[in-house]
Amino acid sequence: MQSLSSIRAPESANDELFDGLVRLARQHVGVMSALVIAGAEDQPRIRTCVGAALEHAVSLGHLEAPWRCTDALLVVPDVQCDERLRDLDLLAAAPHIRFLLACPLRAPAGEVLGILYLLHDQPRELNMAQQQTLHELAQLAAQLLAREAADADWQQQVDLLRENERRMALAITGSGTGIWDRNVATGEIHYSSGWKALLGYAEHEVGNRIEESYTRVHPADLTYVQASIQAHLEQHTEAYEVEHRLQCRDGSYKWVCSRGKVVERDVAGQPLRMIGTTTDISAMRALSEQAQQTASLMTDLTNEIPGMAFQYQRLADGRSCFTYASGGVRTIYGLSPEQLLANPDLLHEIIHPEDWALYLSSLAISATNLTPWHLEYRVQLPQQGTFWRQGDACPRQLEDGSVLWHGFIADITEHKLIEAELQEFATTDFLTQLCNRRSFMLQLETELSRVQRTAGHCATLLMFDLDHFKDINDRWGHFVGDQALRHFAAILRAQLRKTDAAGRMGGEEFAVLLSDTDIAQAMSFGERIRSELARTPLVHAGEQIPLAVSVGIAAINAGDPTPEAALSRSDIALYRAKRSGRNRIECHSEAAH
Ligand code: GH3
Ligand code: MG
Ligand code: MG
Repeated sequence: MQSLSSIRAPESANDELFDGLVRLARQHVGVMSALVIAGAEDQPRIRTCVGAALEHAVSLGHLEAPWRCTDALLVVPDVQCDERLRDLDLLAAAPHIRFLLACPLRAPAGEVLGILYLLHDQPRELNMAQQQTLHELAQLAAQLLAREAADADWQQQVDLLRENERRMALAITGSGTGIWDRNVATGEIHYSSGWKALLGYAEHEVGNRIEESYTRVHPADLTYVQASIQAHLEQHTEAYEVEHRLQCRDGSYKWVCSRGKVVERDVAGQPLRMIGTTTDISAMRALSEQAQQTASLMTDLTNEIPGMAFQYQRLADGRSCFTYASGGVRTIYGLSPEQLLANPDLLHEIIHPEDWALYLSSLAISATNLTPWHLEYRVQLPQQGTFWRQGDACPRQLEDGSVLWHGFIADITEHKLIEAELQEFATTDFLTQLCNRRSFMLQLETELSRVQRTAGHCATLLMFDLDHFKDINDRWGHFVGDQALRHFAAILRAQLRKTDAAGRMGGEEFAVLLSDTDIAQAMSFGERIRSELARTPLVHAGEQIPLAVSVGIAAINAGDPTPEAALSRSDIALYRAKRSGRNRIECHSEAAH
């Protein structure tokens, strides 16, 4: 490849030749001055002037304009007697000029490149032979000017190309790109210095055989690199572009992008010459690998950890959608990420109907106040059942007025079960599965406040204490005693309505709270229990163990300051039942006090 910078411009202005030509014209006619004005109409300049210097006497403008449009030689034997020149400023500006000859010097295409003048201070006549010679000299001068113009034009183009080449070279060097030029027929390949530098080679260290070039391609990449090139050589592709590894001088590999194109084929279409570039993309590649790794780490993290990571957006107009859902959505909602992204309304079918309103309002509050969203709610998954979910997300307001949450939904079903178990453990008596004392007292408190709140609402409290229970323990053993306690609890439970509550207050003492019940109804309830207990003795080892119970009843009064007040009244009544012979019911009446 021949570098443009090595092309040299030819000698441009042949000044001596030009001067000689004009001098010849002057001598031939024997006039005072001969000159050539050249250049564009608006930028005339004296190209050559021989004889008396005229430039001081005649401004260029005076000489220039009138004869541009003349076709051939214009001869004015006496300026002062010529009608054609009457109106010209020339006469006023240079009154000493008498003879004038002007001849436009035209390029082959016809444009005026300059004008040849002969001037003299005496009138002159020219014969035909003189005119002919002058005409020929003028043509020669025109050719010289034309060549000069062409040279200047050429030079300008070379300068332009050179500048372009310089810029391209800079750009190529800066972009980490090398160029190569391959003769497909001979198998020769030439690399630019930049190409060699790219891989760390000095100018003389790279051979020019295509076979050698393939040895630098990473073995794992060679097959597809060659296949891409081959496909292009066979004209299946417009050009080719492959990313692969190339071995550097130090043995390490660099990721490059090779682009190439056949620029010459023979008549049969066989490739002759191919040129192309090799660009270092190691840095880009490392960056994209890093980005890829980060992305897959993120995907793994969000998909592998139990639960569902999500991004949820509520637009200013109220519409909302999931913009991201991790793979965990399959277990959390029984949907694929695509399904949820396409239609967020599917959740309406999945979230428990009793929790749906809460779900919507909690999100609305989070959006309005931009406070973190936190909610425990249930979902119903087809064929699987009901599960508990816990959602947490942080909202952020975007410029367009929408709110964007990033959050996480976890499965808390097991946690909720344990919580429920603990709750039961804390409120239930282990032996009888009735309420324990603490839990019963809480219900009593609730009922008391209902009585206090609601006029006409009545409720009663019954205290039960098994008679001579100690004897049962003593006679049958503690285990049977326990069975007896359970037996009595079962009888109690069987008689309870949904609104009633029963609790084991301690030992063989039980309490029952009857809502919406007066003393008379409570007495019949107590009677029912007493007779039921008498009717169904505990059976142990084929033996019947008779049980009896004493009952104390008290109404829950709106005036009771605490639930304990009612409790103590029923205790008093119970005590009276014991004292009165046991296995009986006593009511605490206000009259008794
Ligand atoms: P009274 O008719 O006056 O109520 O006589 P009593 O024997 O039922 O009453 P007392 O208070 O003298 O005895 C209650 C007994 O209940 C004493 C205790 O050993 C027994 N007891 C308390 N808790 C349990 C229990 O969880 N299991 C068993 N098997 N016995 C218990
Ligand atoms: Mg007792
Ligand atoms: Mg007892």
